[in-house]
Amino acid sequence: MGQKGRSIVKMDVDKLINLLNKALSDEWLAYYQYWIGAKVVKGPMKDAVIAELTLHATEELSHAELLSTRIIQLDGIPVLSPQEWFKLTNCGYDIPSDPYVEEILNQNIKGEQCAIKVYSGLLDITREADPVTYNIILSILTQEVEHEEDLSSLKEDLELMLERRK
Ligand code: FE
Ligand code: FE
Ligand code: MG
Repeated sequence: MGQKGRSIVKMDVDKLINLLNKALSDEWLAYYQYWIGAKVVKGPMKDAVIAELTLHATEELSHAELLSTRIIQLDGIPVLSPQEWFKLTNCGYDIPSDPYVEEILNQNIKGEQCAIKVYSGLLDITREADPVTYNIILSILTQEVEHEEDLSSLKEDLELMLERRK
């Protein structure tokens, strides 16, 4: 443990660790939702959607990496069991039972919008209290904003294409 590193945090560190573990649970569920979505998705523009979903999966995993590293720096224990993910998650998990592209995109857009809300709240909490965590959260949030836009523009292309065919 970095004692000095932990001591400069001007908020309840255990509370912060819990919030980071909640976000870590979200990231693992988001990772799997993208990863399995890329496997099962069907319909027009499938290849472009698979490429984006697969990339986003790896980016969600990198967010899990950043969060778990920060939790350990703060002398916390990153969530150890997948069963805990469902107890801690903010954003939940949408089962991709309908594999149609638009439905998969909608589910993941909803997930990104939830992530943006959660990380935006974490920025407010850490801004003054913990600049190190703030910086990490800011880099994750920046990528979630990008994710939402990537998926929305794919959905827009899909709608335009289907519109033209009528
Ligand atoms: Fe993420
Ligand atoms: Fe994301
Ligand atoms: Mg992308």
